[in-house]
Formats: sequence, C-alpha cells, structure tokens
Amino acid sequence: MRLVVDLNRCQGYAQCAFLAPDVFAMHGDESLLYNPQAPDDQHDNVVRAAHACPVRAILLDAMNGSLQAPEASGEQ
Ligand code: SF4
Repeated sequence: MRLVVDLNRCQGYAQCAFLAPDVFAMHGDESLLYNPQAPDDQHDNVVRAAHACPVRAILLDAMNGSLQAPEASGEQ
C-alpha cells in the first residue's frame, strides 16, 4: 500500500514506529524514516499507526488513488 507522511506536520511522537516498526522508524529524536510502499502484510499495522498519529500526518492510499488522512473515529 502507498502512504505518505506529511513531515511538516509530523512532531516525532513515534506512535507509528511503535505500531508498525517494519514501516516506520525514528532516526534520532525527531526525524522519521518510513517506507512509502509498505508491503501488503503491513496494511493493518499501517492503518493502526495512521489512526494513532496525534497530528494525522500519515496519509493513506484511498480507493480513488488519492492520499488521505484516516477518518477521526473511535472504531478500530
Ligand atoms: S505518529 Fe505521527 S507525529 Fe508521530 S512520528 Fe509518526 S507520523 Fe510523526
């Protein structure tokens, strides 16, 4: 799946690196490294990470091909 992190928004909270360590990794205190083409078996982890990001910086591939932040909702 395709994803993008808006690094202007990212505050380095590292929730994503905790929830999907195969896709996101912290480099130093605040800079984030990530794989923009996450393997399909990481889909659930990436969605969880996107929902957990406090600043909604993780944009995910949508059905129409655009990249969107996940809906703010309590459902998992
Ligand atoms: S959870 Fe969000 S703010 Fe934190 S490091 Fe990941 S993308 Fe950045």
